[in-house]
Amino acid sequence: MGDTLRKYGLFINGKEVNSISGKTYIRENPATEEPLAEIAEGQKEDVDNAVKAAKVAFEKWSHVSPSERAKFIYRLAELMDARKNEIALINTLETGKPVRESRVVEVGASVRTMEYYAGAATKLNGESMSISDDQITITLREPVGIAAHIIPWNFPLLLSFWKIAPALAAGCTIVLKPATDTPCGIVEFARLTAEAGLPEGVFNVIPGKGSVAGQALIEHPDIGKIAFTGSTEVGKGVMKTASQGIKKVSLELGGKAPCIVFDDAEIEDSVEANLRGGFFNQGENCTAVTRLLLHEDIYDNFLSHYIDRVKKIRMGNPTEEETEMGSLVSKAQFQSVKSYFAKGIEEGASVLCGGGRPKQFSKGYFFEPTVLADVKPSATVACDEIFGPIVAVMPFKTEEEAIQIANDTIYGLAGGIWTQNLKRALKTAKAVKAGYLWVNTYGGIIPETPYGGFKQSGIGKELGSEGIDQYLDTKAVNIFIGDKIPRWYKG
Ligand code: NAP
Ligand code: MG
Repeated sequence: MGDTLRKYGLFINGKEVNSISGKTYIRENPATEEPLAEIAEGQKEDVDNAVKAAKVAFEKWSHVSPSERAKFIYRLAELMDARKNEIALINTLETGKPVRESRVVEVGASVRTMEYYAGAATKLNGESMSISDDQITITLREPVGIAAHIIPWNFPLLLSFWKIAPALAAGCTIVLKPATDTPCGIVEFARLTAEAGLPEGVFNVIPGKGSVAGQALIEHPDIGKIAFTGSTEVGKGVMKTASQGIKKVSLELGGKAPCIVFDDAEIEDSVEANLRGGFFNQGENCTAVTRLLLHEDIYDNFLSHYIDRVKKIRMGNPTEEETEMGSLVSKAQFQSVKSYFAKGIEEGASVLCGGGRPKQFSKGYFFEPTVLADVKPSATVACDEIFGPIVAVMPFKTEEEAIQIANDTIYGLAGGIWTQNLKRALKTAKAVKAGYLWVNTYGGIIPETPYGGFKQSGIGKELGSEGIDQYLDTKAVNIFIGDKIPRWYKG
């Protein structure tokens, strides 16, 4: 195995290095179960070194002019675009997702995000206020300092760039901890930062365990802001830790997206969009449609088209261009999805298609696109985030009932609405308690739009102008321009 095993270090102060302890771990390719890479495993002392480098770098980077910062971000975007095929391939090898999705979404949308925030770097204007004849106030927008980025495994690149791009644009330096399962692509990117001439220490990566490297990073007193994407459960702990240092924190957490299809919906389009809604990225997607709510009058018609199309999704070797669905990310995730499926059946659901590993695969964590009917809104599969390719279908009679089911969750990340009636679309959009909605389409989160959850799906937004606000502090400067300071003390 030694010959083909890729090697990845920690990336600190512009260089790839071993962990101080010398510890490494092996990551397997989830589609083949073969060893893929040997990765340095960061510990607290490595985190300390990375934060130290980011602290020194901040003193310079925060004084680099916005237009120079913009040029660096553009250069990184160009370099990544030029290497898109090789970066997409490693992304596919470490996640199991189809290489088309890696190239178009993980790399392509990351490049777009960098381009958007490169432009934003030069538009970080404050305000000026004429308070009275005697006073003007201006606001300055200053970078918050060192940003800690904690990334999950489902979109190891894209979710990193939603954080890296605005942080760099704002003038922050970064220490990023990727998920244990997916560190390879982001270390590849770190190598590009050296090639782009990004000053040493501005961007650092520490692969390692969440409970060790991740925890040490968010606890570090020199961190100014924590941006975390992951599960609600871990997010709660992150928020608690952040409270110790009153650190700024944004959390992008779990979801259980509903998609409401009314009786006047354009069925063919809705079926098509819902295929992607449910099964894009093997359903390992926080905005995945996991509760498909169908009006009773179109229920049978919709499902017969939908199931027919679901069965035709091409599962296969993720490195092949035609593959439309790859393997889940890990054995642990495969087992978790499998046990949710079993629980669904136990609680009365019936299987319309899917339900396990297709027979043609003797290896790899492949799980078929699965659709369950007769799911009660209170069933486990309708409440828990499964994070795999299982869609629960539920009928509804009235608009009120659909909204009631849609909102009956601790989550509030995303949702979809299908109707040709504008009034109904807008009324429903206002009533659904979630941060990101699609009407007559589903999927695709664009850099211009603020993205983030309601309820236990998170706090704070990423992307758009709000996404960069997370990396800036606003300072008000009050300036007296009157003739004489009024006398408060009369003695
Ligand atoms: P996770 O278990 O919460 O882990 C997320 C990240 O946090 C990983 O890098 C993990 O490291 C790290 N971590 C774990 N414990 C930590 C600690 N005590 N301190 C600091 N960091 C710690 O989530 P996941 O299993 O990777 O990803 C799936 C979850 O992400 C799902 O719940 C999904 O909904 C959510 N997600 C949300 C969004 C969104 O935008 N809202 C997007 C994508 C995914 P290890 O890998 O070493 O455990
Ligand atoms: Mg996890």
